[in-house]
Amino acid sequence: MFKGKVVWITGASSGIGESLVYAFARQGAKLVLSARRVEELQRVRATANLPADDCLILPLDVSDTESVATLSKQVYDRFGKIDILINNAGVSHWTKVKDLSLEVIHKIFNVNFFGGIALTKAVLPQMLASKRGHMVVISSVLGKMVVQKQAAYNASKHALQGFYDTLRLEVAQDGVGVLLVCPGFVRTNVAKNSLNKDGVAINQDNDKIAKGLDPDDVAEKILEAIEKNKDEIIIAGRPERTGILLKRLFPSLFARMMRKRKLL
Ligand code: NDP
Repeated sequence: MFKGKVVWITGASSGIGESLVYAFARQGAKLVLSARRVEELQRVRATANLPADDCLILPLDVSDTESVATLSKQVYDRFGKIDILINNAGVSHWTKVKDLSLEVIHKIFNVNFFGGIALTKAVLPQMLASKRGHMVVISSVLGKMVVQKQAAYNASKHALQGFYDTLRLEVAQDGVGVLLVCPGFVRTNVAKNSLNKDGVAINQDNDKIAKGLDPDDVAEKILEAIEKNKDEIIIAGRPERTGILLKRLFPSLFARMMRKRKLL
């Protein structure tokens, strides 16, 4: 299904995004690799063995929403179309609300929410005109429940759910698919890259992330979900799934457990 398709992945320099590059490359897709660190994108391209003709490295900071429209033009100039956009770039934080500055909250939202929305808006008209395409957004199980010290992250992922659920309704008749992906703990650099109260990466691993799912397995499940045109997929272990269920069915019990952090 993915042979010759043009797939634009943000956050392609690490973790889930990097694994997605390898998974799509194995299927013969043409790839646009985006993130801030160009040397890491080059490393990923080399590891994926992507021929120069099938790959465009497009460094970007997703929080610079103004430049996104001009960047999408570079993709159209090179490949003439975008079949799949994967809004994967994201950042977390590890701070209680009382210590969380507005500046860090803005930073989290600019990357996790507004950046991807700007890309979506830049790409949507062409998908609507051609009556095909797929928007994929990497949310989180924390778009469905919450944990302490991640208020802005939780909120940004909840916001993605609202936005993309709405978009899906609006484009349902236009041949454009919208897939929301909610991973649980995945073995990536997400914990290390989480911001402290000063907006600086904490550079410390987290036990649950270190023991989390293999990002390559997560990537394979995402490709499968696109192929099956699913609306949403939760890729997570039992504790996170239980958390989502409890939050939905027994919110007070969930809150009591999470206050003491007995669940996750
Ligand atoms: P990583 O920290 O390993 O990767 C994050 C990626 O996002 C990197 O490629 C990074 O590249 C990119 N990125 C960060 N900020 C920006 C920016 N301003 N502009 C462009 N790119 C940026 O973490 P994951 O792979 O885990 O994260 C991928 C997604 O998965 C995120 O949205 C995260 O919230 C989500 N997720 C992860 C979970 C996990 O347990 N790992 C669980 C649930 C969701 P660079 O630094 O080069 O810019």
